[in-house]
Amino acid sequence: INPNNIDILISAVEKAQYPATGLKEIALSGRSNVGKSSFINAIAGRKNFARTSSKPGKTQTLNFYNMDDQFIFVDVPGYGYAKQSKTAREKWGQMIESYLAEREELSAVIQLVDLRHKPTEDDILMYDYLKHFEIPVILICTKMDKIPKSKLQKHLKSVRETIDLEEEDVMIPFSSIDKKNVSPVMDAISEYI
Ligand code: GDP
Repeated sequence: INPNNIDILISAVEKAQYPATGLKEIALSGRSNVGKSSFINAIAGRKNFARTSSKPGKTQTLNFYNMDDQFIFVDVPGYGYAKQSKTAREKWGQMIESYLAEREELSAVIQLVDLRHKPTEDDILMYDYLKHFEIPVILICTKMDKIPKSKLQKHLKSVRETIDLEEEDVMIPFSSIDKKNVSPVMDAISEYI
């Protein structure tokens, strides 16, 4: 991935705006604050490409990023934000649901969970939802740098068991701070593009 050949194509609010690039799409999903923007920036090799700590509750868009003409990252608004209104939650659901259920170009979802904690109820719901549509998942466990090496395996086991990870899905611990495991992530993505 050439960091100089990465571009936001569109922040879409409806299907008619989804870009027609002929490239495969990899969507990114996770609870607000899980580290999704930092992850995109780490993979892109750019500092402030995807805005970090973007507050949910603002306009909920699907952001399409052209990643060096190799694939498209589709940034899905974060879920599980307690302060969100019911209307905002319903709107979130409709846009995401139709994208995930119907988008031909979508070939896998990168779901991010926080390695420090057990996956939440929302994390499990989202994973089950993706599995319902038979969408391959690359499970990224963020904030790996916060876990002492001696406890890494224990945390990974807890995530795997709580989310009930299916055989065909891979799980990769990741740190945006140390840029740890960028290449295993790229290898996993390359299976789907
Ligand atoms: P988003 O809401 O999912 O886009 O999350 P952000 O990327 O904005 O990150 C939320 C917070 O977690 C910010 O304070 C980041 O600096 C922090 N963060 C993100 N990734 C990591 C990581 O790998 N390690 C550590 N220690 N902090 C991280």
